[in-house]
Amino acid sequence: MAKKLDQIIVVDVEATCWEGEPPEGQDSEIIEIGICPIDVATAEPLEKRSILVKPEKSTVSDFCTTLTTLTQDDVEKGIAFKEACRILKKEYRTKHRAWASYGDYDRRQFERQCLSWNISYPFGATHINVKNLFAIAWKLPREVGMAEALKTLDLPLEGIHHRGEDDAWNIARILSELVVKMRVSL
Ligand code: AMP
Ligand code: MG
Repeated sequence: MAKKLDQIIVVDVEATCWEGEPPEGQDSEIIEIGICPIDVATAEPLEKRSILVKPEKSTVSDFCTTLTTLTQDDVEKGIAFKEACRILKKEYRTKHRAWASYGDYDRRQFERQCLSWNISYPFGATHINVKNLFAIAWKLPREVGMAEALKTLDLPLEGIHHRGEDDAWNIARILSELVVKMRVSL
């Protein structure tokens, strides 16, 4: 199927984490997939969505709750990672659309978890790295975090930083600004 160019699917994942190394026998797993499609025609972010994912091989540490606000109880109500990947493919057509995230982390985490769990990768080949793109567009000597990018653009950080759905929304706002600025007037 030809690549679809109607939307860009912005994704931001949260994963189980610890202050240092994971405890014996645990490994970092996705616990939230934040999604915010951008309408390419208008360059506007559409709605944001949070899919909570129940971890199978790790638990949410206090450190992780402090960072993300997500608790073990929250993610216990989540769905299986495989089901979340199915939603991305079915509802967001992620195999056929470009997807975007801030940096390489989210793509790598998906690649790693799909490989180790033998789950089919839910995305196509086209990934937009907004962190890299932002630094290039602004001629920065190095990449900057999402909060700094928003500040540079004079945009307030909306929602809770380190919650997937709010991060996805804010990243979509950054990408939206970049698309508007780079768009040639026809
Ligand atoms: P973010 O999208 O910036 O909220 O980060 C995504 C994931 O990266 C988090 O859910 C954590 O698993 C991990 N992470 C981010 N910042 C830290 C940190 N300071 N220490 C440990 N893990 C982190
Ligand atoms: Mg995040």
